[in-house]
Amino acid sequence: MSTQTVSSESLQDKRSESALVPDAKFMKQMNDEVKVNVNLCYQCRKCSAGCPMSADMDYTPVQLIHAIRLGLKELVLNSKTMWMCSSCQTCTTRCPQEVDIARIMDAAKIMAIAEGIKPPVSSVHTFNKAALRNIKWFGRMYELGLIGDLKMRTFEFFKDMGLGAKMFFKGKLKIVPSLSPLRTLTTWKIFSRVKKKERSS
Ligand code: SF4
Ligand code: SF4
Repeated sequence: MSTQTVSSESLQDKRSESALVPDAKFMKQMNDEVKVNVNLCYQCRKCSAGCPMSADMDYTPVQLIHAIRLGLKELVLNSKTMWMCSSCQTCTTRCPQEVDIARIMDAAKIMAIAEGIKPPVSSVHTFNKAALRNIKWFGRMYELGLIGDLKMRTFEFFKDMGLGAKMFFKGKLKIVPSLSPLRTLTTWKIFSRVKKKERSS
């Protein structure tokens, strides 16, 4: 649980000065993107206190919200915080001001990719890409297919082999995917709608 003082000074400790140049439009851009008013945050830190991933983040959720309010675009978009977020929604549920922090994390990832920033936690980005491709093709998660795809992308062929074997023998990994043309078609339509939306934004 973090009890750090959330101030621009504590943020400054962690990043170079160039990352601390405020971008006047950033907070508005973030608010428009997620339709969440970060100015409602009064820094109570309940989000960070409940976050199961905050120890692995470079900035806790409350610090990231503070950085957004300060307009520190470069710092926020280069942070690994949103890449470590597991989208568990604990922060959003705990926030007394109903600031949807989990949604902000997703938006920060989307904005960082759109700006061409290389994700600092590349394994998370690789997993996201492989998982989305898997769902697109099978209409639902096909775990063995996902493992195969990840191995091909990362070349870590022997990583977690023991864990995989345990899951297989417990019947958690199906050799053949469950196929449904209708389900796959529906999923393709969803992906195509998202693509169109991305192009028009
Ligand atoms: S829980 Fe909500 S109000 Fe409290 S610090 Fe986090 S975002 Fe701000
Ligand atoms: S959604 Fe992300 S930021 Fe929020 S509590 Fe869960 S891991 Fe932490």
